[in-house]
Amino acid sequence: MTVDTTTQTLAQLGAATLDQVESRFTEIRASFDAEISRDSVSGDWVAFVAQWTGRKSGVLTRIADNWLKSAAPELKKVVGLEFQKLKAHVESSLESKRKEIESAAEHGAAARDRVDLSLPGAERAIGTRHLIRQTYEELTRIFLSIGFSVVEGPEIETPYYNFEALNIPEHHPARDNMDTFYIEGAREPHLLRTHTSPMQIRTMEKQPPPVRIVVPGKVYRRDNPDATHGYMFHQIEGLAVDTDITFRDFKGTVEYFVREFLGPKARTRLRPSYFPFTEPSAEVDASCHVCGGSGCRICKFSGWIELFGAGMVDPAVYGFVKNGYDAEKHSGFAFGMGIDRLAMMKYGVTELPLLFQNDVRFLRQFP
Ligand SMILES: [Zn+2]
Repeated sequence: MTVDTTTQTLAQLGAATLDQVESRFTEIRASFDAEISRDSVSGDWVAFVAQWTGRKSGVLTRIADNWLKSAAPELKKVVGLEFQKLKAHVESSLESKRKEIESAAEHGAAARDRVDLSLPGAERAIGTRHLIRQTYEELTRIFLSIGFSVVEGPEIETPYYNFEALNIPEHHPARDNMDTFYIEGAREPHLLRTHTSPMQIRTMEKQPPPVRIVVPGKVYRRDNPDATHGYMFHQIEGLAVDTDITFRDFKGTVEYFVREFLGPKARTRLRPSYFPFTEPSAEVDASCHVCGGSGCRICKFSGWIELFGAGMVDPAVYGFVKNGYDAEKHSGFAFGMGIDRLAMMKYGVTELPLLFQNDVRFLRQFP
């Protein structure tokens, strides 16, 4: 560019006539017009403005210093006039260019913010109800339909509620079967509940008889994970206590449940068993829902499938509760089912870990 001329005086530039002075100003103006119309000028805007109007070394300042001050007396008037014209042109051009740049920026921002209603919407993959959740709801629905209510309780428990109050004193062999996660550092001993049964005690402490509850929730045991075991699984606990509950009520309830869960043809079988908080205790089996009882791989050719453990509430448990529960007057039954196990059995899932990988392709198989 030709602005270098502004570092010299007009005399040095050899501009001695009016025409020569005017042509010098015309060069400067042409140089300015060429630069301001370049696309890149908006990116360098601040530097460009400083280059032309900077107070110390801008082109206009240099013209004032080098051309105007040193101009020969007969040229002074025309140099002054040309300078004012140039200055006005530069300033007004800069002002309109600035507005142009700003409005382009605003326009761009507006374009970015605008919502284009004609575009297809952003699709969000919808999952599916988890098999465990489905089974959970299926189980609670069955018990709600015969007058039970649903309660939930803490997963962090005290040894008292998890063991002692359920008739499992310290050193009782039943504790060995439930490898327990203990929580260290707490002021009082705490653990992750190994079953949902503590809520039997907590509910009876709060609510005098009669009581009919199911307690679904997570329980924890120090099991090594394999095809059928995990360190966490879901249980649903049941408890019914009243003044005249007999073993027949227990059996009738269990049979009703099995038919509702596995279909009207399912038959039920009780086998003697042992649990510290029920007496007598039973394992509840159902006729195989796959072969109908004739024997197949699912039931290991026995015709029966083990469902859950249950029994009549051990009278000793009432002694821990008090609150109006009297072993002489009251009786009841309790059961504890593995929700994950029942889901696997009913829907033919052979690997427990599949239930916890949350692969939607797996879960969608169970609409
Ligand atoms: Zn079978």
